[in-house]
Amino acid sequence: MPELPEVEALRVFLDAHLVGKEIARVLPVAISVLKTYDPPLGAVEGVEVTAVGRHGKFLDLTTGGPAGELHLLVHLARAGWLRWQDPLPPGPPGPGKGPLALRTALTGGDGFDLTEAGTTKRLAVHLVRDPQEVPGVARLGPDPLAEDFGPERFAALLAGERGRIKGALRDQSLIAGIGNAYSDEILHAAGTSPFKPARNLTPEETATLYTALRTTLREAVERSHGLAAGRLKAEKKSGLRVHGRTGEPCPVCGDTIREVSFSDSSLHYCPTCQTGGKVLADRRMSRLLK
Ligand SMILES: [Zn+2]
Repeated sequence: MPELPEVEALRVFLDAHLVGKEIARVLPVAISVLKTYDPPLGAVEGVEVTAVGRHGKFLDLTTGGPAGELHLLVHLARAGWLRWQDPLPPGPPGPGKGPLALRTALTGGDGFDLTEAGTTKRLAVHLVRDPQEVPGVARLGPDPLAEDFGPERFAALLAGERGRIKGALRDQSLIAGIGNAYSDEILHAAGTSPFKPARNLTPEETATLYTALRTTLREAVERSHGLAAGRLKAEKKSGLRVHGRTGEPCPVCGDTIREVSFSDSSLHYCPTCQTGGKVLADRRMSRLLK
């Protein structure tokens, strides 16, 4: 799933490629990708893109024009991606079972496709006058890379949390933009157990976690910076130290990276670095290591 660093890299890429260009057509291909109907998609046709922003994991393509400022908000969900097309393939995209979810054609003949792999279709596009009209945007917590997101603010957010730290970091209404992969990376960098209750962290642990959070996200953004949209996925994977690396040695201490699997995701951690050497129960993992 694209998280804050990848969405930020896409934003930078689109800012360079889209601003000042005119949208010719927006064609939803997959059923239900478009979540709004007023204003209609036709309102952005023949209109110039004026800015590309980001709210958590949402991309915000802002357009000017006679209807006033409009925002095309894109959430790529778990398996969505953006493919820049220069030129766009000729002919209208056919509806079908392929991964194409929505195509945006620019007046110059180039454009981009939103694609979504797999059978669970969660990619969402909203066309609104104000981004706050989208519930997923309205409920977002602060951006962890914002200038004013300091250690005191982070500590105050965690102090009000009832759940475990892994879930707190992923909670978009608490902090915007962090998902399953980067929460694993941040907790590993801080040496914190994913199962520790958020409000039981000591002030020192919270300070260490804050530094790990900012450093991990900043480094990931820097690694992705300047990469074309097509290379971001591979870059994300190669930059991860524990997430998706079950069975590999921890790059810090050499212990074997373990996982705990749930019905729809799994978390990854290093026992020596994070849980005092304790291996957390995981039925799937114990089968693998037999
Ligand atoms: Zn380790």
